[in-house]
Amino acid sequence: MNHADSPPPPSGRTPAFHGSSLELTGLSLAYGSFDVVRDVSFEVRPGSTTCVIGPSGSGKSTLLRGINRLHEPKSGEVLVAGEAASTMVPEKLRQRIGLVFQHFNLFPDHTALDNVALALWKVKGMPRAAARERAGRALAEVGLAERAGHRPRDLSGGQQQRVAIARALAMEPEVMLFDEATSALDPELVKGVLNLMAGLGERGMTMVVVTHEMGFARRAADQVVFMDEGEVVERGAPEALFERPQSPRLQRFLSEVL
Ligand code: ADP
Ligand code: MG
Repeated sequence: MNHADSPPPPSGRTPAFHGSSLELTGLSLAYGSFDVVRDVSFEVRPGSTTCVIGPSGSGKSTLLRGINRLHEPKSGEVLVAGEAASTMVPEKLRQRIGLVFQHFNLFPDHTALDNVALALWKVKGMPRAAARERAGRALAEVGLAERAGHRPRDLSGGQQQRVAIARALAMEPEVMLFDEATSALDPELVKGVLNLMAGLGERGMTMVVVTHEMGFARRAADQVVFMDEGEVVERGAPEALFERPQSPRLQRFLSEVL
C-alpha cells in the first residue's frame, strides 16, 4: 500500500513500531574460564516476539546482556537489521536495543517524566524541552500520562516498571529485551505489565522476553527458546514446544513449572 493512502493513526495513539530483525549466530559468553552461554543461534523476525525460558542459572540474563554488549561476547555475532553489533559503538547499540530489567532502577528523587527524559538529554543529547515532550509521549504509550509528575515511591511496582519500559521506548529502539520484567512485582500487578508488553509486540516491536510466565509465552510468543546449562536445547512455535516437548530436559522443566 502506498504510504500516502494510509489512514492516519487513531488520535492519541502512537503509530505502530517498526521493529528490526535480530539474529544471533554462534553467540558464546563466559565469566573468566566459565562458559555460561554456548553457541547460541536463533533469528527473531522484525516485529515478532521470542520468549526465552529455562531454569535459573541457565544463562538467560547473560544472553540478553550479550545481545546489547553489556557483557562482551567471547565469540559469535549479533546482527541488528543485518548489521553486526560488534562494529557499533556500544552506546549506540544500546539505543537500538533497549533492555528492561526485573529491578527498574529509577531515580527516586526524579518524577516519572524526568526519569524518562533524563536519558534523552544525557544519552541522546536532546534539548530538554524536546526530551520532556518525547518522554510525555512515551509515558502516554504505557498508560501513565496522568502520573508524569509522580515520584517512584508514589507509584505502584507495576507503574514503576511501566516508567522503566517508557524510558526504554523513548529511545525509539528497534528491538526490546525484557529480563524477567514482572518477577519482582506483586502478583496482582503482573498481568497489567504483561498485557502492556504483549501490546508492544502486537504493534510491531521486535522483542526477546526472558520470562517464567508460561501463559505469556504461550499467548504472546511467535517463537519459544528453551535454554539449559548455557545452550539452546529446543526452539519452536509455542504450541509445539509446550504440547510436544522433545527433549527430556524440556519435559522435566515443564513438569516443574506448569
Ligand atoms: P539465568 O538468567 O538463566 O538465571 P544467568 O545468566 O544469570 O542465568 O547466569 C548463568 C550462569 O552464570 C550461572 O551459573 C551464574 O552463576 C553465572 N554467573 C552469573 N553472573 C556471574 C558473574 N558476575 N560472575 C560469575 N558467574 C556468573
Ligand atoms: Mg536471569
